[in-house]
Amino acid sequence: MKILVVNAGSSSLKYQLFDMDDNRVIAKGNCEKIGIGGLITHKRPGKEDYKAEVELKDHDDAIALVLKLLTDAELGVIASIDEIDAIGHRVAHGGKLKESTLVSDETLNYLYSIVGINPLHGPPAIKGIEACRKSCPGKPMVCVFDTAFHSTMEPVSYIYPLPYEYYEKFQLRRYGFHGTSHRYVAGRVSEMCGKPLSEMKVITCHLGNGSSITAIKNGKVVDTSMGFTPNEGLPMGTRCGNIDPTIVPYLMKELNLTPAEMDNVLNKKSGLLGVSGVSSDCREVNAAADAGNERAKLAIDLLIHEAKKIIGSYVAEMNGVDAIVFTAGIGENDRGLREAICADMDALGIVMDNKVNAECPRGEACDLTAEGSRARVFVIPTDEEYMIALDTLKISAQ
Ligand code: ADP
Repeated sequence: MKILVVNAGSSSLKYQLFDMDDNRVIAKGNCEKIGIGGLITHKRPGKEDYKAEVELKDHDDAIALVLKLLTDAELGVIASIDEIDAIGHRVAHGGKLKESTLVSDETLNYLYSIVGINPLHGPPAIKGIEACRKSCPGKPMVCVFDTAFHSTMEPVSYIYPLPYEYYEKFQLRRYGFHGTSHRYVAGRVSEMCGKPLSEMKVITCHLGNGSSITAIKNGKVVDTSMGFTPNEGLPMGTRCGNIDPTIVPYLMKELNLTPAEMDNVLNKKSGLLGVSGVSSDCREVNAAADAGNERAKLAIDLLIHEAKKIIGSYVAEMNGVDAIVFTAGIGENDRGLREAICADMDALGIVMDNKVNAECPRGEACDLTAEGSRARVFVIPTDEEYMIALDTLKISAQ
């Protein structure tokens, strides 16, 4: 069985082709600069990467090129697109859809209907799905939503203390994101602990360009740090995360900003970039901090501070924690940040073995738990695409 996983952004389209018989990626790549030029990188294990500038007017062009490369006599890995059994799509926002769903006219109509609450990520995901429908008519397709895993939250975790009619009228509530990643690492931590997830209290920390932390009790999400949009919770590369909401009208008035300009400040000019003035990339901010840049150090400290606050609140919410997991670009690679987040949390039963943490090879899962720690601490590389492929395989076979 072969499953193609597609992750469409506004100007990019990432893909991975899985052979599910042995859980292997047989080809993957990225189309970039869609609509503003066009660039493709196509990779196959053990073979030289293929890179080319090709005009990509839209997502239809990108999908057509991906399928052409996958079936190319020289660069391809399959003889024809008939070998692809199903296509899985990463979709950031599923609205009220609580689990991965087969693509149908009804699903697409629903996704169109919630573009208003997901204006950034909704349209490209829909374009990716439409493009695949055109190129591969009749092929089973599945949407896997970043929000779905969080749909087990109770109203006390997802309702904002605003006038209740806004929830009813605008679907204004906490949705949470990165659910596929949180679900994947939660499953892996349960395997590594040899205990069913349904009997565990787990906190998963997905720290990347976008970051979120999730509390999972007995296999169900009880809280997550991202909210109505992916701009709540931790400070991120360019997003502010938690701030006093009244700052927004104050700044709009003082700077005479339109809603779009204000949104740009909150989503594109804040976070690590906004505080450090150096970069949104954690590696560059770390390097500047190491070189003595005080604002860069402050930006990293704000991230550590907020992460500690969220983890502490989730331990309180779940009345304990059995395991904490770090994942994604920063969580998997930045040992210093992991150490700083876990420092001085012994009162909560969390103690990391700093030596094991410092020696854990990048890209590997490691148990970082110190002797005597009540909670176990792990770093586990995430694999959202594999999770999407698994869901696609399961749902398309139903
Ligand atoms: P995205 O949310 O775009 O998927 P990633 O999960 O790939 O992002 O994370 C990107 C972040 O990971 C960047 O801030 C990058 O600096 C950071 N990162 C990658 N490698 C390291 C490293 N060795 N040390 C610190 N941060 C790193």
